[in-house]
Amino acid sequence: MVKQRTIKKTVKARGVGIHSGKLVNLTLIPAEPDHGVVFKRLDAGGRMVHAHSAFVNEVVLSTGLESQGVKVSTIEHLLSALSALGIDNLLVELDSFEVPIMDGSSAPFIFLVQSAGIEEQNAHKRFIVIKDTVRVENGQSWAQVSPYSGFKVTLEIDFEHKKIKESGQKLSIDFAEQSYLKEISRARTFGYESDVEMLQKKNLALGASIDNAIALSDNDILNEDGMRYHNEFVKHKILDIVGDLFLLGGNIIGSYEGYRTGHMLNDQLLSAILSQPNAFKIQTFEDSNSPVHFYSEDWQNDL
Ligand SMILES: [Zn+2]
Repeated sequence: MVKQRTIKKTVKARGVGIHSGKLVNLTLIPAEPDHGVVFKRLDAGGRMVHAHSAFVNEVVLSTGLESQGVKVSTIEHLLSALSALGIDNLLVELDSFEVPIMDGSSAPFIFLVQSAGIEEQNAHKRFIVIKDTVRVENGQSWAQVSPYSGFKVTLEIDFEHKKIKESGQKLSIDFAEQSYLKEISRARTFGYESDVEMLQKKNLALGASIDNAIALSDNDILNEDGMRYHNEFVKHKILDIVGDLFLLGGNIIGSYEGYRTGHMLNDQLLSAILSQPNAFKIQTFEDSNSPVHFYSEDWQNDL
């Protein structure tokens, strides 16, 4: 059978929250089958929040959750790494409300899970199989999922910035053929230098720096080392989508397509999917050779 996965041992990391600017300790702890991915706030009496669409309460600049008055912010890059590695069960302890941004990509979280090792568990892994097209729109922006025999993300972004235009604004990744680890995981978040002051007045982006984001000036980027991929911007947006989709509660089998999407539209899409029981089904696979290993065949490879 295709089995659920957790990590082999507890691992820790520390970093700042990109919005809070606070130093945060992050601990990933193995969890039993059917546990799901759950955040635990050590600084808030150990209260927990499930990584599920039902608890999303923040969608503007990042994706955040809230349950029983306890928030967890900027979860999407960690969830993207967990999705890519097919991790179903994990306890994520934090001593503040925001997941550390690390280098702005999901590569540090991939590395953390790799260093813990992956444990296959004696329980069927449950996939969310898309059976029918579900589409949401907001002005010109749209996002949809449709049936597909694997996991594929196709995205077009539309930024006026010279560097982003040059880099290519459309990309399609079929994760059975292209490696998330090699093609997506190192893509960093990005933002306009000119927005930083305005955001910081609102107590946002307090931890942002060229160490954890691509900083856009009027016509260029401020990062002296340049880009990690020639099309790093659209790749980061695909990284975000993989993370947001994981809030359905596991790996999906389907194709996502979008134009100018963001966390808000992704959240609307997840709610639309979950409100249409005929649009998806939960499926397990007896044959461990079944063609669903798009999520993690290469998990031990270098980034
Ligand atoms: Zn992001």
